[in-house]
Amino acid sequence: MQRRNVIVVGAGPVGTVAALACARFGLNVVLLEEKSRIDDSPRASTTQPPTLEILAELGLIDEYLRLGLVSRTFQFWDRPSRRLVAEFDFDRLKGETAYPFVVQTEQHKLASMAIAGLRKLGNAEVRMGSRVIGLEQDETQVIIKTEDEALAADYVIGADGGRSTIRKSLDIEFEGYTWPERFLVITTKFDFQAALGCCLRNYMADPEEWTNLFKVAGDDLKGRWRAVYNTREDETDDEALSDKAVRARLSRVHVPERSRDYLHLNLYAVHQRVAKSFRKGRVFLCGDAAHVNNPIGGLGLNSGIHEAWDLANLLKERNSDLDSYERRRRPLNIKYVQEQTIANKKRLEEKEPAARERRFRELKEMADDPQRHKAFLMRASLLLSQ
Ligand SMILES: Cc1cc2nc3c(=O)[nH]c(=O)nc-3n(C[C@H](O)[C@H](O)[C@H](O)COP(=O)(O)OP(=O)(O)OC[C@H]3O[C@@H](n4cnc5c(N)ncnc54)[C@H](O)[C@@H]3O)c2cc1C
Repeated sequence: MQRRNVIVVGAGPVGTVAALACARFGLNVVLLEEKSRIDDSPRASTTQPPTLEILAELGLIDEYLRLGLVSRTFQFWDRPSRRLVAEFDFDRLKGETAYPFVVQTEQHKLASMAIAGLRKLGNAEVRMGSRVIGLEQDETQVIIKTEDEALAADYVIGADGGRSTIRKSLDIEFEGYTWPERFLVITTKFDFQAALGCCLRNYMADPEEWTNLFKVAGDDLKGRWRAVYNTREDETDDEALSDKAVRARLSRVHVPERSRDYLHLNLYAVHQRVAKSFRKGRVFLCGDAAHVNNPIGGLGLNSGIHEAWDLANLLKERNSDLDSYERRRRPLNIKYVQEQTIANKKRLEEKEPAARERRFRELKEMADDPQRHKAFLMRASLLLSQ
């Protein structure tokens, strides 16, 4: 049996970046993906400055910028009164990063780009339609079993998403909880920037139902918007996805009746969970296989890519301290991704009127104070925790 240095399981954005980084460092890599094509459902797009730095190291940045939208600012709004509360500007991060902005590029574009990069390398192989069903390991190697074959490697990176087969095969607990509500993503061509005067990334608080509005380029690069909402806890999936409810939700974010058509709907369960361990023997967990969080703030995928990069850098050296991966990355995820996304969600859904106004005041004061503005962005962009 041919033995590789690394087998990566899962060709999502994290697995493809992990595989490309390992291969560019000279390791012999195979990437296994159960689906026959890359999943292009609307999920992550917000790419933070430290992630852009990694994509530059991997030679992907020009294409990434070309296929996305550069967004320097993000805004907080009070949705019911249509009031802009505060604006934060990544330009304040000049000097801290070569990329003082975020880029809105859909995650399937990143996965496709990284796969194209892998296909150009002689030491990398991509196998689509190859589902991993289990693994065995000893002190010397790991054997990965797919539905058709067994493959051997020095190390395995499990980047197979929130329901990770690799994590389950290792019997690692996924500690945390699932929120009772789900998140609905409505994709529309309605131009919120023109209609509301907002920017490309907006967080709109409302005690009854919040909305986040993001512009992405779309595959045709013509631009479209994603409006993300929480559902009611007692709302069924069918109800949330019904045309009537979707149009009503668009009306609540000030879309006029004649413009309430939409292109696409997605409903997601939302979790806050972290694997009890990020490594067992020669197998590592990375990205959503290691942790999941609510998407408010655009941190989940970004932290996964930082892990992929760290791990590839450890695996390329013969005598690395491989334990440092979990020692470093697990607390970073808890402190900067879990805590921050939970706080972001609470800020949007605050119900008590005095507390809402206090939160708005705090945001405005922070935005008006140059030092606190920058400190907030250092954390929100993951520059503090890369
Ligand atoms: C609505 C929404 C918006 C989001 N927005 C953002 C954002 O703006 N910024 C951000 O940072 N994050 C965001 N996220 C989170 C982000 O989408 C995830 O963190 C990201 O998809 C994780 O990537 P991954 O590669 O780890 O896992 P996945 O994207 O889930 O990829 C896992 C891959 O593994 C494959 N696989 C699974 N099992 C097997 C198996 N047994 N064998 C072989 N292959 C297998 C799957 O088919 C899949 O291709 C958002 C999420 C949602 C739901």
